[in-house]
Parts: sequence; structure tokens; C-alpha cells
Amino acid sequence: MLQRLKQDFYLAMISLAGLIIILFLTPYGIFRLFTGNLVVGIADLVMVAVSLISVLYAWRTGDTVRPGQFMAVAFCIGASLVCINLGLDGLFWVYPFVVFIFFLVPPLKALLLLLTTLSVLIGYGLMFEGELFATHFQLTSFAVTTGSTSFFAYMFAYRTQMQRKALKKLATIDSLTGAANRRTLNKALEEAIAQQQRKGRPYGLMLLDLDYFKQINDNYGHKVGDDILVKLVPILNNLTRQTDKVYRFGGEEFVLLFDDIKPDALHALAEKIRQGVQQQLLLPDGKAVTLSAGLALLAPGENWEAWLHRADMALYQAKHQGRNQVILAD
Ligand code: GH3
Ligand code: MG
Ligand code: MG
Repeated sequence: MLQRLKQDFYLAMISLAGLIIILFLTPYGIFRLFTGNLVVGIADLVMVAVSLISVLYAWRTGDTVRPGQFMAVAFCIGASLVCINLGLDGLFWVYPFVVFIFFLVPPLKALLLLLTTLSVLIGYGLMFEGELFATHFQLTSFAVTTGSTSFFAYMFAYRTQMQRKALKKLATIDSLTGAANRRTLNKALEEAIAQQQRKGRPYGLMLLDLDYFKQINDNYGHKVGDDILVKLVPILNNLTRQTDKVYRFGGEEFVLLFDDIKPDALHALAEKIRQGVQQQLLLPDGKAVTLSAGLALLAPGENWEAWLHRADMALYQAKHQGRNQVILAD
């Protein structure tokens, strides 16, 4: 449970927001009902119910987009009703509310929802003079202060979102080649094992290693070596299917993960990749760079370490037998 909260930012935010609403709005709504304010009491309790349903839905399905949107829209309608009903007393709540919406939906959506809600309140204030705002000056102050609070909250949320995306990229992508990194590979392998156990899908993997790469570095320089690694990734992507993914395993070793593949097809595809790389991955003087690879189909009940190990053994054999070849593990 803690693990899911740590990994899924929006799930954590929706849960926190739901908890705050349920804890604080329930007594408030009951109080309003007992003191005779039906509209505010019901609006508060509906928001509590929406929160409860949304949080449960998010935990059950893992989908945080729909419950987040549902909560945000329901709260905007609820907040407008409460403000119109309570007048000035309700308007003070708009400020924490503005910040709160950014916990539920991505920044731009939150900003648009808030601008709509604020426009409704200001429009209402203009239409029914003296009801929501005592003076025009009060209305203008409200518009400017809520507008600027929304804008600053948006900027803050936007920056956080950008940083979160950048961090995610750093944690999952290899910076030199742009291929997914080993950490991402581990997750994908675990996912493949789970899918195979659940649905019996066949998976294959190819562990490839460039031949005589140390010599390439020694003869042409480290920069040319780097360029070869960078060029290899789009070549691999072009030679494989949309659903196949390329991971940098480390150094000049890469893993290709094939979803839904039969044994014969795996060997044929790997052979096509080997030939394609030999034709397309060229050194500055036009000499070809070749690869050796070990292939392994995921065996029923196998864990990913054993699966990868079999591919590694097959790779070792391919190297041992003279390189520039692919070998399928038993
Ligand atoms: P083999 O055919 O047996 O695979 O021989 P090899 O020379 O390719 O194998 P070895 O594992 O001995 O050498 C791999 C070399 O790859 C050693 C290391 O300097 C180089 N290397 C690892 N990562 C990088 C990198 O990011 N950039 C460059 N330019 N070289 C790298
Ligand atoms: Mg190597
Ligand atoms: Mg090598």
C-alpha cells in the first residue's frame, strides 16, 4: 500500500485530498444540516460521498485520471453552490480551494476549471448586486486575488510537473542512447512474467553484445564508440515491431524484449536484426559493426533472473563460436 502511494503521485494526491475532505467536510456538512442550511449541508455531504467513491475507485482500478476529474468537477460545482449560499463567509474558502484543485488534476485542467468556477461566482456577483459582494470594490478585489492565487498555484504546479517528468526520464532512460535503462528493463521483465502467468502470453528476449567493441574504441576513439551506440538504437527500433522494446543493459550490451512471439519467429527476427545491424551500423571508414546475441523464450514458471541467465549463456556460446551470430537457448 505504502509502495503504491510512493510510486503513484496522483493516487497519493487523490487519497490525501479525499481524506482531508472526508475528515473535515463531514462534521461541517452535518452541522449545516442541523442548523437548517439544507443546500450547503447537502452540497458538503455530496462532496464527501464523491471523494469516498473516487478514492475507492482509484485504489481498485489504478486509474487516477477519471476519479481526479470527477472530484475536481464535483468540488467546483459544490464550492460554487456553497459560496453563493453562504455569501462572504463562503468566499474565504475559495483560497485553499484554489490550491486544492491542483492536487487532483494536471495543472492546465485545474486552471481552466478554476477560471470557470471563479467566472461563475463573479458573474453571479455582477448579476445580483449586493448579494455575494457588498461593493464593486469587494468584487474586483476578489477577482484579482483569486485570479492571481490561481495563476501562482498554476505556475508552481506546472514547475513541479516538469521536474517530476524530468526526474522520471532520468530514472528510466539511458542518457547516452535514449534507450530505456536497466532499471526499466527489470520492471518490464517482471511485468512479462506476470502477464505470462496470468494470460499465458509467450515472451522472448534477445541479449545482444557488439563484437570487438573494445577494439573499435581503441582504433577509432571513444567518441566514435559512443556514436555507434547512439546509432544502434534507432536501427534496432526500425528492425523490430512496434511492441518490441530496446533496453540498454550496460556498456555495449542491449536487451530486446519481444511480446507475443513464437520460437521460430523469435529466431527469424533475431537473424533479421543481426543482418540489418551488420548492413547499417558502419564505422567512419565504412567497415561493418557486428553483434552476437543469445535468445531465450520465457519458460513457464521461470523467474526473470533465470530467463536472462539462459540468454546470457546463449550469448556466451555465440561469442565462443566465432561471433556475428545468434543462438537460441534450450
Ligand atoms: P566481444 O566481441 O567479446 O564482446 O569483445 P568486446 O571488445 O566488445 O568486449 P568487452 O566486454 O571486452 O569490451 C566492451 C567495451 O565496451 C569495453 C568498454 O570500454 C566499452 N564501452 C562500454 N561502455 C561504453 C560506452 O558507453 N561508450 C564507449 N565508447 N565504449 C564503451
Ligand atoms: Mg560486452
Ligand atoms: Mg562486446
